Amino acid sequence: MIKKLIRRVISLARGKSKKTRTLGSCTVIPFKEHGVKREGISPAARRVTDGLQAAGYQAYVVGGAVRDLLLKRQPKDFDVATDATPEEVRRVFRRARIIGRRFRLVHVMFGDETVEVSTFRRMIEAVDAQTDDHGRLLRDNEFGDQEQDAARRDFTANALFYDPSTQEIFDFHHGYADIRANLLRMIGDPATRYREDPVRMLRAVRLSAKLGMKLEAATAEPIFSMKGLLGNVPEARLLDEMLKLLMSGHAVECVKKLRAMHLHHGLLPMLDVILEQPMGEKFIMSALANTDQRLREDKPASPAFLFAALLWHEVLSMWNAQLDAGKPAIPALHLAMDAVLHKQRLQMAIPHRHDTIMKEIWLLQPRLEQRSGQRPLRLLALPRFRAAYDFLLLRCHSGEMPMELGEWWTEFQEASDERREEMLLPEKGPKKKRRRSKKPAATVAA
Ligand code: ATP
Ligand code: MG
Repeated sequence: MIKKLIRRVISLARGKSKKTRTLGSCTVIPFKEHGVKREGISPAARRVTDGLQAAGYQAYVVGGAVRDLLLKRQPKDFDVATDATPEEVRRVFRRARIIGRRFRLVHVMFGDETVEVSTFRRMIEAVDAQTDDHGRLLRDNEFGDQEQDAARRDFTANALFYDPSTQEIFDFHHGYADIRANLLRMIGDPATRYREDPVRMLRAVRLSAKLGMKLEAATAEPIFSMKGLLGNVPEARLLDEMLKLLMSGHAVECVKKLRAMHLHHGLLPMLDVILEQPMGEKFIMSALANTDQRLREDKPASPAFLFAALLWHEVLSMWNAQLDAGKPAIPALHLAMDAVLHKQRLQMAIPHRHDTIMKEIWLLQPRLEQRSGQRPLRLLALPRFRAAYDFLLLRCHSGEMPMELGEWWTEFQEASDERREEMLLPEKGPKKKRRRSKKPAATVAA
């Protein structure tokens, strides 16, 4: 107890220092200079750093959260870095569990907030490290000290440590100055760092688009010639990063940057093909803009909807091929969907759990064209109606379907029973045999 009190007094006294000072290779920036208050840190993350420090360990808020606070943005989550081992961290907190196999992290829970705590790591020198044939690090999971932990991070802006008890920032790589200059700069030699982990190229694009930071020249320069290395990254990791990019709320900006840097080839294998077709491009860009908008308004946006959009023009062209071969419309659509998902999976595995939703959205598209009898009312009652309708609107906006169809559904949803009656189109002809639906209205630009 007394020890804790003394430590608190010492740290507060240290925090009172008004001048930037250096500690070895570290610059310590006081609150007076950077202005990030401890209240900006979530209560749970503060309890984690307080708890660890009281137990005699070093503990800082680190990474994206410090960067975002300096950029006056709300951090997505708060990560903590410490010199305590995972077992030691677990001993300090009642609700904590160790997760991860390759590198063990601790999740500490307070209420419904979870704080991820990682032990300082060091980068293993390339000579000792296991790498693949292209120099990609296969192992980077050894414990280290704070300075080493800073050096193994990607960008200078991501390598700042914030101590909530003193409100000081610890900066080993001039990240503070880079943030002030709005520059995203790789720590160390960029080409070496991309070779160690090619995903950093995608992170560079995503973070610069999301944060509106400029990629520093030497950080951007090797990307063009090194982009091929993305081909060696395990596909689960690539998909993970693609999802982060597409769900960042800045997908349009990210995809534009990816194209400008020629990085989009081979990522979502169909993305490059589709983006090169005028109608496909319009459709995808409006799907991404729509998702960005929803995310910014804190509305739910599902990856399944986005994947359904990304693959739609491929489905459409296969569907048409099946129809041309004489298959009836709905079986043809089923065949097309399965073929596209299979082909996609050979290149990048979109998790199976999204399949059902994607297929439901696609299968409802021809049904949205039927506006007579009881069918529209039955469609309205389906749980997936809203997603299918949003999807239809994208098709209308891209010019693939007539605007009038989307507008009809917009009105029909809101209309009174009487108005709905009026809106329904007459049944076409006597009910004889089931009519074979005609070819989908638009085809992919040939
Ligand atoms: P976001 O706001 O999207 O979460 P972030 O920078 O916090 O961005 P995370 O994936 O949460 O990204 O990673 C947390 C921190 O881990 C980063 O700030 C960075 O310091 C480090 N990091 C993440 N990925 C890498 C990588 N591939 N190479 C080196 N350091 C990395
Ligand atoms: Mg983060």
